[in-house]
Amino acid sequence: MPRPVILTVDDDPAVSRAVARDLRREYGEHHRIVRAESGPTALEALREIALRGEQVAVILADQRMPRMTGVEFLEQAMDLFPRARRVLLTAYADTDAAITAINVVDLDHYLLKPWDPPEEKLYPVVDSLLAAWRESSDRPSATIRIVGNRWSARSYELRDLAARNQLSYDFFRADEPDGARLLEAAGADPDVLPVVIAEDGRTLVQPTDAQVAEAAGLATTASEDVYDLVVVGGGPAGLGASVYGGSEGLRTVLVESRATGGQAGTSSRIENYLGFPNGVSGDQLTTRARLQAEKFGTEVLTTRTVTALEPKGRARVVRFDDGSEITAHAVVLATGVSYRMLECPGLDDHTGQGVFYGAAATEAASCAAQDVYVVGGANSAGQAAMNFSRHAARVIMLVRGPSLTASMSHYLIEQIEANPRIEVRTCTEVCGADGTDHLEKLTLRDRNTGAEETVEASWLFVFIGAAPRTDWLDGVVARDGRGFVLTGPDLPRDENGRAPAGWEPDRDPFHLETSVPGVFAVGDVRADSVKRVASAVGEGAMAVSLVHRWLENR
Ligand SMILES: Cc1cc2nc3c(=O)[nH]c(=O)nc-3n(C[C@H](O)[C@H](O)[C@H](O)COP(=O)(O)OP(=O)(O)OC[C@H]3O[C@@H](n4cnc5c(N)ncnc54)[C@H](O)[C@@H]3O)c2cc1C
Repeated sequence: MPRPVILTVDDDPAVSRAVARDLRREYGEHHRIVRAESGPTALEALREIALRGEQVAVILADQRMPRMTGVEFLEQAMDLFPRARRVLLTAYADTDAAITAINVVDLDHYLLKPWDPPEEKLYPVVDSLLAAWRESSDRPSATIRIVGNRWSARSYELRDLAARNQLSYDFFRADEPDGARLLEAAGADPDVLPVVIAEDGRTLVQPTDAQVAEAAGLATTASEDVYDLVVVGGGPAGLGASVYGGSEGLRTVLVESRATGGQAGTSSRIENYLGFPNGVSGDQLTTRARLQAEKFGTEVLTTRTVTALEPKGRARVVRFDDGSEITAHAVVLATGVSYRMLECPGLDDHTGQGVFYGAAATEAASCAAQDVYVVGGANSAGQAAMNFSRHAARVIMLVRGPSLTASMSHYLIEQIEANPRIEVRTCTEVCGADGTDHLEKLTLRDRNTGAEETVEASWLFVFIGAAPRTDWLDGVVARDGRGFVLTGPDLPRDENGRAPAGWEPDRDPFHLETSVPGVFAVGDVRADSVKRVASAVGEGAMAVSLVHRWLENR
């Protein structure tokens, strides 16, 4: 295998040589160091590397170059090597430009010049970027081929499932020659789609999520019958509990119904998570957390939905929809919240066919040079609008309220205002949708005047708040009126001020403990939680220390 490339570009020959020398000294054995002295020559080098089928792991570019700035270069480099990690070299005075650039080229890091000594300032950065690159490229997953119709909702779901689980996949349209050839070779009926062809040649017709996950090499069934801890939900809270559970010696299994990462995994850039001054993509953060949990021995099951919880004496049993179950000494509920559906005539018919809930990252590139409508006025909608603006001709944000200020962070409003491709339409709501096999038209209503307007639209992304899906806990753990799980001091008390009905232990519930002893709730699903990545992770970690107390004294 050829060594992966680390490329550095700086127009100052002395600096360019110095960076290359430092990189070669530390990384030369396992990487090929390529240096260039201008953006265009560096792009030329990248094209040649791509032609030879080699890989690029890290690109370091100086910002102030005469013919092409570092950001302009990185923007084009991303098209050639989207997974390469990107670093901008800036002088002290350029840090503002660098921070702004983070949003344009999804920068991983910026380094202030000079970086002496490299052992302290350069190598730790490159080390962590190389590790992140390896994680994203070396996932042990087989390539699966999905053949389906362009606008089929189920085909979209399978692409989304594969993308969110970092599975390597190719999508073929059944009505195009390559897709038709694949179906014929697999002996599959082109009228019964989608079809998934696994790397070992197995053909799965209209498969379930779990069948696709299995075919791609993900674990979907538990290896043991009994665990110390079952964590339900693989967002930041569940991953936090899994990392701490595993690292503290608990036999831990994490059960996730779709893809680890949860809502955070769909965020294009989390700006406020501690320790990431340049922001971090939710996918990167949570993929690393999953690997960290697995490193500590936590078993991760994907595409498995927990549908029931039953306390059985001292044991806690969780059940799946196929009737199988896992028994544990303790349970952490970390099931978060799900997007609320937008109610209006015609919209349901097009879910997954132009209408999407959440960021639907797999669709971003397909929106190239088209109009994209984004519904919602909170940070999630703002982040998505910024992300789509990199591909779309125009992003039109539809906001019910009179402005964004009440619902969106100031920094994001500034980015949106400065983005010429984003238009914000306030006091506007969607009141109708129409199309044949996919979305073609939207009807918009001005909330002040009641005036309606029909616009041509193929893409609508909805971000209108979220609600917990906890019906399966009904009658087992106490929840508030909106379905959020009550814990610790929020639990209803009996007439003596002690909690709660049916509570047996001779102590009050722990802080994150539900009305069932030994069952804890963390993150967004917990009543009155903060709805932030950091707090979700923190609660996951804290729950594990409470699990230890429960195990010691039960
Ligand atoms: C687009 C977007 C951008 C955001 N940006 C930021 C930001 O910049 N900063 C910030 O601090 N916060 C941000 N947030 C909020 C943050 O992502 C959430 O607060 C955080 O993800 C909550 O973590 P959680 O683990 O509690 O729940 P979730 O992330 O919702 O994860 C819950 C997981 O549980 C799984 N699950 C649900 N039910 C079951 C079941 N029955 N069985 C098995 N699995 C189940 C789900 O599939 C999901 O993966 C953003 C949210 C969104 C949507």
